[in-house]
Amino acid sequence: MTSQGFSTRAIHAGQDPDASTGAVVVPIFQSSTFAQDGIGGLRNGYEYGRAGNPTRDSLEEQLAAAEQAAHAFSFSSGLAAEDALIRALLTPGDRIVLGNDVYGGTYRLIDRVLGPWGVSHRVTEMTDLDGLTAELAAAPTALVWVETPSNPMMKVTEIAAVAEITHAAGALLVVDNTFASPYLQNPLALGADVVVHSTTKYIGGHSDLIGGAVVLDDDALAEKVAFVQFAVGAVSAPMDAFLTTRGLKTLGVRMDRHSANAQAVAEWLRDQPAVDTVYYPGLPDHPGHELAARQMRGFGGMLSVSFTGGATAARTVAEATRLFTLAESLGGIESLMNYPAEMTHASVQGTELAVADNLLRLSVGLEDAADLLADLEQALGQLPAS
Ligand SMILES: *Cc1c(COP(=O)(O)O)cnc(C)c1O
Repeated sequence: MTSQGFSTRAIHAGQDPDASTGAVVVPIFQSSTFAQDGIGGLRNGYEYGRAGNPTRDSLEEQLAAAEQAAHAFSFSSGLAAEDALIRALLTPGDRIVLGNDVYGGTYRLIDRVLGPWGVSHRVTEMTDLDGLTAELAAAPTALVWVETPSNPMMKVTEIAAVAEITHAAGALLVVDNTFASPYLQNPLALGADVVVHSTTKYIGGHSDLIGGAVVLDDDALAEKVAFVQFAVGAVSAPMDAFLTTRGLKTLGVRMDRHSANAQAVAEWLRDQPAVDTVYYPGLPDHPGHELAARQMRGFGGMLSVSFTGGATAARTVAEATRLFTLAESLGGIESLMNYPAEMTHASVQGTELAVADNLLRLSVGLEDAADLLADLEQALGQLPAS
């Protein structure tokens, strides 16, 4: 299996034709429970939908193959996956060290939900490896949580170096791989212990589902995550699992086009007088460019841009685009425009994770690049001439 290319694995892993009908696509097993042939006589181990469902199992096998991992668990959202992972691995009194621009909802979960249950946290700059080493020396730490490229500043963290520092401190490294997707980056191969995904984004890819995943190699850790998934029950519903599987099959071709379109948009924006900075790892002057080129197989579809005209300029552009839809989320086929300060990152304003108010985050979709550039040109054209 591991010798096959990414798209072959994404299309075939867990996707054998249905045994009883030959259906080429794994059916949506929309059933809460499964008949027993005599008490305890389970067919293929299926008993009750929270414990296992064939559509979800096929997705989990496909997700594991996409990251070339031993185990994957599918959840009803990315945050449900994160919550299950943290509660499976930590107990009250444990500590998490997380990057200073992780997804706002991840910070909110750790700070405001798990904090009151006794899990403490510290925020640090993950691209500063000496600072991370010092932070881990300061107190016993159970988990280090990294997002790379990060959201929304597109900072790139060296996973292999962070894994080494994390393991030397006796902690586990979790990488949120949502922005890169498993097509562009495989953190487990670089030394991470666990990968989490919001499958809502690139893996689903069509803005029509909410889902999440935990992916890992270690059997003992997997058993703990499996137990929380079953005992708490934030599992993917069969229809969502089916849609996620369908999305993952085309992830490779989509990411190639996302990356090409984002590169074109980043290069165009960089040359506009109204633009202060474009944050995209595919630009040679991005501080993480060389690292991203080594660590990833492409630069992805996400970028951020700041404007010299401050919040007013950013808001004007955000509300003026027509092809770029003003909406939260990312990773779908359609281009989206986000004003982090009041949308995705509203919950972290006033905290250590606050985002500048002259910044827009773009999820560059799969439309024709020329049309995307024309849309941005008319939107920037609404700014006062400087
Ligand atoms: C969206 C997102 C999440 C949370 O996932 P949900 O599916 O919205 O619960 C976590 N991490 C990143 C990087 C995300 O973009």
